[in-house]
Amino acid sequence: MAEPMESPIGEQLSDRRDKLEQALSAIPNDTKLLQLLDDVDAAIERVNGGTYGLCEVCHDPIEPDRLMADPLACFCLDHLTADQRRALEEDLELASKNQGALLPKQSFDLAGWATAYHYEGAGPVSGDYCDLFSLGDDLYFIVGDVSGKGVAASMLMAHLQATFRALVSLGLPLDEVMERASRMFCESTLPTHFATLVCGKAGLTGEVEFCNAGHNPPLLVRGSKVEEIEATGLPLGLFCEESFTVSKVRLNPGDTVLLYTDGLSESVDKSGTQYGVERLNRVVKKGHGEAPEELVSLCVKDLYAFRAGTPKADDLTIMVIRRLGDD
Ligand SMILES: [Zn+2]
Repeated sequence: MAEPMESPIGEQLSDRRDKLEQALSAIPNDTKLLQLLDDVDAAIERVNGGTYGLCEVCHDPIEPDRLMADPLACFCLDHLTADQRRALEEDLELASKNQGALLPKQSFDLAGWATAYHYEGAGPVSGDYCDLFSLGDDLYFIVGDVSGKGVAASMLMAHLQATFRALVSLGLPLDEVMERASRMFCESTLPTHFATLVCGKAGLTGEVEFCNAGHNPPLLVRGSKVEEIEATGLPLGLFCEESFTVSKVRLNPGDTVLLYTDGLSESVDKSGTQYGVERLNRVVKKGHGEAPEELVSLCVKDLYAFRAGTPKADDLTIMVIRRLGDD
């Protein structure tokens, strides 16, 4: 989606230069610091000369999320040295493991509710946000999508998760959680970044509250009837002062909610046709009686069958929440 804003890079670099000089006055002649100072000076020269952000070998632009993570990068992915490539692969592998550890446990079941999810990045890390946790008797579930992809988006996803977990633990009403999360996200990220997400709270009596920040409407499945729970708000962090409304749905035993990101609905096959919500509806209708993990896996299998080998282009999350019977 949107590109991050990169205008004050010259300022950022001269800030870094000041800090390096301070550090060097404490530890003079440190070879690593001196090397960094050289690198920063070279980057400042590239900014002044108008070649900043271009690969030194092919002169094509360096990938924006890599440049954001490392403003001193001089080579595009295709022109890294073997050592640089290995270091980058190790970093990504570690980031991927860290992100895996942030996911909720599979079959996170709370009194009266059963859950299942599928989470899969387009690359080693994902910009989708998928979470399940409880506060008292309430089950909280969140599925979202941060603008952009790759490492930069995955960092924002981790930031969003920490924000939500902290705000929910304060016991705030759902709309206030969303409003505060939106403000914090807006204030602490680049202006071009935002997230769409659905946050839900399911209680013991079967009542489920939803706040939807511009995300694909969750599907409500009652028997073989499937309907959409409509969106109620703008994406999170688009503006610093946003308000959200809560919609409520009562789930009977056996009723199911299915949430997903556009990595499902906007997946394309070889001919460029989108998977679409209608096809998803049909799969869900057919599989409505299956256990949550089965239903999730039916959706994943159908998506793979539809794609028939077309490479995945986006991060994918599918989550199912089911109200259990009163036995
Ligand atoms: Zn290059």
